[in-house]
Amino acid sequence: MNIFKAMKPDAVYKKVTDIPFEQYASKGVNCVLFDFDNTIGPDHATEPNEYSFECIKKASDLGMESCLVSNAKSGRSSGIAGKLGIKCVTYAHKPRPDGINRALELMGRTKEETIFIGDQIFTDVMAGRFAGVHTIMVEPYAKKEVWYIVLKRFFEKIVRLFGRF
Ligand SMILES: [Mg+2]
Repeated sequence: MNIFKAMKPDAVYKKVTDIPFEQYASKGVNCVLFDFDNTIGPDHATEPNEYSFECIKKASDLGMESCLVSNAKSGRSSGIAGKLGIKCVTYAHKPRPDGINRALELMGRTKEETIFIGDQIFTDVMAGRFAGVHTIMVEPYAKKEVWYIVLKRFFEKIVRLFGRF
């Protein structure tokens, strides 16, 4: 896959709760892989919040199982996943597809029955596209981000301008 195709998500929504999970369920999707930071919770949070639980419930209400796929250190992500009652893959090395492949194995699902949801083009979207799962991008949950993410957002804007999404 060429790099520009890898940077373009299959779908874009403002927030996770806007995603039509029912439509995905009706197409046979039964596994949802989530990025955490700024996708279902605040950036660098150590605990899930009410919104995080709401996002997971969206999927679980339809019988879909969820898993976190995080680049973060194992302690923080597995703590969050434990509180959410879902599985977790840490040190995912996004944009490499390894973390997503490990999650598919852990969940016992195929890429056809799985979707991946994240907020960043250069990590989440590329990892999902390289792994060959349906990849959904959401706008960042919180506006407050660390400086290097702010810098990445600038380059994301350029990619989105050219990629028209
Ligand atoms: Mg994120």
